[in-house]
Amino acid sequence: MKSPRPALDRLREVSLYEAFRRSNDVMFYCDRDSGILDVNPAFVRLFGFKREEAVGKNPRFLRSAHSTAELYGRMWESILDPSQGYWRGEIVDKAKDGREITLLLSITAVRDTDEGVLGFMAIGMDLTEQVSLKTRVAQSEALANIGEMAAVVAHEIRNPLGSIVLASNQLANEALSPSDRGTVMKLLRSESKRLSDVLASFLTYARPPSIRLSRADLNALVAEVCGILQSDREMMRHARMSVSLAPDLAPCPMDPEQIRQVVWNILVNALQAMEGYGRLTVSTGREPGHVFLRVRDTGPGIQPAVLPQIFKPFFTTKQQGTGLGLATADRIMKAHAGAIEVESKPGEGATFTVRLPRPEE
Ligand code: ADP
Repeated sequence: MKSPRPALDRLREVSLYEAFRRSNDVMFYCDRDSGILDVNPAFVRLFGFKREEAVGKNPRFLRSAHSTAELYGRMWESILDPSQGYWRGEIVDKAKDGREITLLLSITAVRDTDEGVLGFMAIGMDLTEQVSLKTRVAQSEALANIGEMAAVVAHEIRNPLGSIVLASNQLANEALSPSDRGTVMKLLRSESKRLSDVLASFLTYARPPSIRLSRADLNALVAEVCGILQSDREMMRHARMSVSLAPDLAPCPMDPEQIRQVVWNILVNALQAMEGYGRLTVSTGREPGHVFLRVRDTGPGIQPAVLPQIFKPFFTTKQQGTGLGLATADRIMKAHAGAIEVESKPGEGATFTVRLPRPEE
């Protein structure tokens, strides 16, 4: 086996200063008062400042609008703390021509044997390419989402629109009997409503309104939505609903319109899953820091493979679903610093729990 000796000797021959000069990563050295003593050629190449322009300056002259005074404060705290002695992190600096450069920067305090700080050594790795790659990936993901959304919108609109065109053609037929005319008119109304509902849910998802917090009573909201659904015979059919509202539920900060939408989406999903049979159990309650709504149904439940998908936009297992109900509900709950949890075993129904933060009393 070849001895590593000659390579090691050769390395020692090359002075540390040569390593500093030849490094492809940006390196600069500051004295204890943070004045730059020297910069390497990689620094000159990346930032566009000549060595003479940088020497003597505080490295803050590279600071961009993205680096806050707070960031610098934390940075110096870690570097000057003898138990740590360095700082490492991502920073956006500004080149001579104004370009913003993202660096992974590592600054180490150089101390003498008496633990006094002699100066600071900084090594920076240019991350500009990685950052622009990340941006490009995010942009193409956004484009793919738009494409996916456009396809779903087109699909959802085409069916009711087709029925509407057909129905209006039939209405033009003078030989149509009054009862057939009535049926066609009814179809026209229901299909137009479907079209308008589909568009409304797309818009809510695509442009979520900002939340307007006020103190509202979750119990009152739940009671109202349950009342509307209980009187909807088409929705309930043979299903039963039991509602148990906790008496000690304090009003909570929420956007009542948006929380009503969450409650509606979850209850409608549960009723649709039960397909007109079984029992829906709705309850509210409080826990430390939260109030909650729990909706338990006796429908078919959710397969483990499907469970991670249900909050994704456009995921649906229904013929007429948009797959936006839970995605919208999830987004609303996150905006309220709350959450939705789901538990389900196939064949044993599903339980959705919505939690809203409760102010400390
Ligand atoms: P949509 O109702 O338009 O399908 P959602 O985002 O509201 O969209 O729901 C996504 C999917 O989650 C549904 O298609 C269904 O497969 C599943 N799901 C939601 N709630 C339940 C439930 N209570 N029981 C079974 N599956 C459910």
